Amino acid sequence: MYANIIIDISHEMVDRPFQYRIPPCLEGEIQVGSQVQIPFGAGNHLRRGYVVDLTEQAEFDIQKIKDIAGVAVHGVTAQTRLIRLAWWLKERYGSTMNQALKTVLPVKQKVKQKQARFIRRLWTREQVLEAADEAARKHYGARERLLRALAESDEIPCQVAVNQMNVAMASIKPLAEKGVIALESEIVARTPRIRGDLKNKTVELNDEQRAAAEDFARRYDQGIRETALVCGVTGSGKTEVYMEMIAHVLKAGRQVIVLIPEIALTYQTVLRFYRRFGSQVSLINSRMSPGERYDQFERAKSGEVRIMIGPRSALFTPFPDLGLIIMDEEHETAYKSELSPRYHAREVAVYLGEMCRASVVLGSATPSLEAYTRALEGKWRLYRLTQRAKKDSRMARVHVIDLRQELREGNKSMFSRALLSAMEERLKAGQQTMLFMNRRGYASFVSCRSCGEAVKCPHCDVTLTLHFGQKLVCHYCGYETKNPDRCPVCSSPYIAGFGTGTQKVEEMTKKMFPKARVLRMDMDTTSKKGGHEEILSAFGEGKADILIGTQMIVKGHDFPKVTLVGVLAADLSLYTSDFRCGERTFQLLTQAAGRAGRGELSGDVVIQTYNPEHYSIACAASQDYEAFYRQEMVYRDLLHYPPGFQLLAVMASCRSQETLGQAMADLSQWARQASGARGPGSGEVEMIGPAQATIYKVNDIYRKILYLKQENYDILIQLKSFMEQQRQNAWWHQQVMIQYDFA
Ligand code: ADP
Ligand code: ZN
Ligand code: ZN
Repeated sequence: MYANIIIDISHEMVDRPFQYRIPPCLEGEIQVGSQVQIPFGAGNHLRRGYVVDLTEQAEFDIQKIKDIAGVAVHGVTAQTRLIRLAWWLKERYGSTMNQALKTVLPVKQKVKQKQARFIRRLWTREQVLEAADEAARKHYGARERLLRALAESDEIPCQVAVNQMNVAMASIKPLAEKGVIALESEIVARTPRIRGDLKNKTVELNDEQRAAAEDFARRYDQGIRETALVCGVTGSGKTEVYMEMIAHVLKAGRQVIVLIPEIALTYQTVLRFYRRFGSQVSLINSRMSPGERYDQFERAKSGEVRIMIGPRSALFTPFPDLGLIIMDEEHETAYKSELSPRYHAREVAVYLGEMCRASVVLGSATPSLEAYTRALEGKWRLYRLTQRAKKDSRMARVHVIDLRQELREGNKSMFSRALLSAMEERLKAGQQTMLFMNRRGYASFVSCRSCGEAVKCPHCDVTLTLHFGQKLVCHYCGYETKNPDRCPVCSSPYIAGFGTGTQKVEEMTKKMFPKARVLRMDMDTTSKKGGHEEILSAFGEGKADILIGTQMIVKGHDFPKVTLVGVLAADLSLYTSDFRCGERTFQLLTQAAGRAGRGELSGDVVIQTYNPEHYSIACAASQDYEAFYRQEMVYRDLLHYPPGFQLLAVMASCRSQETLGQAMADLSQWARQASGARGPGSGEVEMIGPAQATIYKVNDIYRKILYLKQENYDILIQLKSFMEQQRQNAWWHQQVMIQYDFA
């Protein structure tokens, strides 16, 4: 047996592996992830290395391969597990070991030693609120945000203030100088203090919540490690249930990872965990530098923090004894990595749970079909929360408006009469409205009225997007150009921008309600760091009557004064090429509806659509997940889509169309060959394509896709490995890039 070993994994560049022989005395002791000692270089100095692969075939001259000298660390460490996880990612999703290692191992980098870790309030709550009002008068937005948060919680980690609330240290320091707050070091903070008002912050769980938490605790104590799905309507108090479960696992002396999609990772959310668990909580997010992230992981490794909150990359926190993984909003698309290895955090969480003997708890109001199916089949445990948790908080009334009917009756505007009058009522009553366009990148473009062509990117197969009516930008390659005054195709001067999307909604809203205060949240208004949080805080503080936005506005926020949610064109997300578009539409509408009536005031939701009969829309309107699930499963099974079938996309890209065509022909040939060899019935693989990708050209590189379908995941993985092997010997090997993507 031979082992491929990398030397010193903490380097910024993970070097190529070196091959060593496993001497008979060490056989059985060495596995992927083992930390070993090896003679290295001409002097044969002993170095530490990590095993990344085991093989029976020597890749070099056997005479020259050295023996492993010994096992450096016996048993399994966090490091060992992460390397095994990297190996699994590579095998499962088809990436290089390098890519997989870089995904799981944090990059070591010198970070400036942070002086302060915590902001502690010294003034009383009332004094702080007064100071916040003054900051508001002076338009010190960041300072105001911080002070208001401090009124709620007497300690806030600097990390949360800087990263989550977008308050710069420069705004924090003057407050310390004035004596409003104290900046405390790590050493002080490390000793957990019981804060007086902490206890009464814990809510009393209702029956459903308690049943779930207690069942979990009982089974955990019995040593059962499993995956559970918490299926609970919006506002049913899932987070409270997670926190009970976390408390139980902490008591058992183990650690917890909490995954929350980045878009819902607001400081309100983080502070809830922080209030309950204090300085045991830490977080990572995508705005952190690799050094900061490394720093957080080190704190986890040393046992200084015991709960790590973050987006999907928080999965790779090197806890010494991981006991529970929570994954909130399990259906979110952000849990799927768009870079190789294209892993899904749900699958990684389940695998990691098995590896560490940890439990996994997924939660959603609109579970993915994958998760719900497994729960129904009894493979996973299912907890249901059917009621809103807060007293007096009822689900909103939903009204579906048929836009065809509006048109027939002469209303050509983007607002139905029902929506307009509902908005007017809210303005009169001093309540808030959210208007929602459910499609990302539903942006304005420029097109020609003579020839009908839209202005396209010269490097990509997409139309350019109009920004502020000034310039045209390609969202795929970044190409920019001035808004032309003549059509680039026929030179006609009759060329104009079609300002659809959120900007247009804003314009129209202002026209209809000139006195209303309107905020807009989309790619344009949030591109600067923290812009997102700034807009939401302003809206939360009642500084606007109407908030207009894309799906960014429907996640993770509790605005008690919002009593009306309008969805302007519910069908937009139905017409995409993704087989999950029905599921996405249902999820978005349900989430949007869940925004209304979170407080004591009851809410209304107006869904405008050209397609009121479509089950995704009808089921969202009746807030009936079960009905949606049944209909959607019929469609998925009929067309052999997941979860019943597995779908592997093989994506190839190349600068030459000809080479690409040849490569695709070879790939399909190999797929046919491999699937045929397994004999009829056993492993027949359905093949679709090869076809051009939805966007055929990006950045002057052409792209094609081949889809393979099979019920059995493992057969697809074997097929992928076979294609990978064959590819090594193809003449186009160096010119064509191939990526694998399991849907
Ligand atoms: P979800 O995550 O399911 O949308 P949350 O956990 O955010 O729900 O709870 C929604 C609101 O209800 C929060 O303000 C929370 O504090 C409150 N809440 C949760 N459980 C209870 C309870 N048992 N009693 C009173 N309020 C509760
Ligand atoms: Zn033209
Ligand atoms: Zn482009």
